[in-house]
Amino acid sequence: MVTSALPSSPSPTSASASTAAGAKGSPRSLSGLLPFLLPYRFRIGLAIVFLVLAAAATLAFPLALRTLIDQGLVHTGADGSVDRGAQVLALRDHFFELFAVAAALGLFSAARFYTVSWLGERVTADIRNAVYAHVLRQSPEFFETTQTGEVLSRLTVDTTLVQTVVGSSLSMGLRNAVMGLGALGVLVWTNPVVMTQVFGILVLIVLPSAWFGRRVRKLSRASQDRVADSSAIAAEVLNAIPVVQSYTAEGREATRFNASTAAAFQTAVGRSKARSVLVAFIIIATSAALLWGLYQGTQAVLQGSITAGHLGQTVVYVIILASATAVLGEVYGDVLRAAGASERLMELLATESPIKSAQNPTPALITSAGSAIVFENINFNYPSRPLQPALADFSLAVAPGETVALVGASGAGKSTVFQLLLRFYDPQNGSIRLDGVATPDLALNDLRQHIGIVPQDAVMFSTSAMENIRYGRPDATDAEVMAAAESAFAHAFITALPEGYNTFLGERGVRLSGGQRQRVAIARAMLKNAPLLLLDEATSALDAESERMVQAALESAMRGRTTLVIAHRLATVQQANRIVVLEHGRIVEQGTHAALVAQDGVYARLAALQFTV
Ligand code: ADP
Repeated sequence: MVTSALPSSPSPTSASASTAAGAKGSPRSLSGLLPFLLPYRFRIGLAIVFLVLAAAATLAFPLALRTLIDQGLVHTGADGSVDRGAQVLALRDHFFELFAVAAALGLFSAARFYTVSWLGERVTADIRNAVYAHVLRQSPEFFETTQTGEVLSRLTVDTTLVQTVVGSSLSMGLRNAVMGLGALGVLVWTNPVVMTQVFGILVLIVLPSAWFGRRVRKLSRASQDRVADSSAIAAEVLNAIPVVQSYTAEGREATRFNASTAAAFQTAVGRSKARSVLVAFIIIATSAALLWGLYQGTQAVLQGSITAGHLGQTVVYVIILASATAVLGEVYGDVLRAAGASERLMELLATESPIKSAQNPTPALITSAGSAIVFENINFNYPSRPLQPALADFSLAVAPGETVALVGASGAGKSTVFQLLLRFYDPQNGSIRLDGVATPDLALNDLRQHIGIVPQDAVMFSTSAMENIRYGRPDATDAEVMAAAESAFAHAFITALPEGYNTFLGERGVRLSGGQRQRVAIARAMLKNAPLLLLDEATSALDAESERMVQAALESAMRGRTTLVIAHRLATVQQANRIVVLEHGRIVEQGTHAALVAQDGVYARLAALQFTV
């Protein structure tokens, strides 16, 4: 395990390849989000209503401004005289009008913001849950080819990208599209000549910006990839920190990290440069266009061909149109990134586990005296090693209540027997039957409910001792948990912990000794009370006291159950009804300890070398 965690040479290609491949995406892939949006159609409708109302209020603003200027500010009587009193009154009315428009804008914007943000958060949470639940059901094959880090980044980074789009960009885009089109319509209607000019200038700004924007996006993608590279290095090294420190490689690792952050910095600087040029161009060009329009307008007002209010209104509409165009460009970038993200998420959701639960499962028998297991002519190789058989011509029948010890050198195929029984993998040939039913004909849950497992290195979750044992059967009462702990010889040491059964275990809690962890795992399996028990004995030696306790716990766990045990201890093999000796995935010898020792074959040799007494 330690060797696999050794920091290997950096593999930026693989890290960046995966991010870069996913970064592109056509906006069409966003349709994958539809099933997640549909349940909220009412809210989406509501959001659109608020959005259109807010856009309409924005568009009404310049109209109100125009009436304010033309009828309120430069109000003249029919004879050309100025009636001060009437003017003051009219002005006040117009300000009220303006305020009403502003208030409507504020309220509708707030309502839109709230509904849309709510949607974004809700949809993201739903996607996160769906992806996580789906990943939890994948077979080990999936986890061999997909790095946990990648799944985590999809759950966080990709869902956040989707959230930006659903929770803001889309609505921003829609609002600006409505406003832009509205402004454009009013402009064309009120002033076709100026409009043609402004439109021409806008095209002159938008086209080069779009071209340059693409370049900036490419650079951003490159810079994200470089950042991903450096986090990949950090994740790898932090996981192997004891190895790194024992080789005093801290300095070397820091240098390697520095080199990759330097690369990230360089690309980021490149991107920022390009972006600043783009920003400068847009600001200068847009201002030039606006000033040109304003100049034309002032000339027209001076010539008396349009009113001052008309000019004011036109200027505001042009500003709305220009900013809407700019926002739409940015939103498009977000949409593309989110499309890539949702493509990756949907891909993950579409992966099907090769291990499928039976469609019309045979109901599993409830056996009290242990299950009968039959392996028949199993041939199996791991999917990642097509040429190397892990089990070959493997046939074995285990009677209810029997204890069979599997022994053999490391790599002989002992754990593979467990993996196949649990259906983490399916064999290429042959069948496995549990109480007469082929395992693929059982519901996967039923099958696994039938099997209790005590792994070599028991996992403790970061929760109390009570909950750690209850993991075996979530509906067990406290008394049942304690009874299981009692039979697994774990009760005494648990009650002696600082907070007894409430003591936190696991990474953020009390570190138990190897023997104690095993006894918790045995208690967990006993609580599950499955008719078939799979034991993977720890290879490491325990102190005599722990050893005795663990043996006693195992004995009580085996009672009344069918047990398969990967044995590393003399006491265990001596107790087994039968010992099955594996070599290169084949059964080479079978029998009791005494018989096999007398035979003086593979087992006798192994026993002399391997067993801890
Ligand atoms: P044992 O438990 O007897 O030490 P295993 O059943 O773990 O042996 O392994 C049998 C063979 O299968 C070994 O050659 C091992 O390298 C290979 N193997 C085990 N697990 C995997 C896996 N997940 N992917 C590919 N090969 C594996």
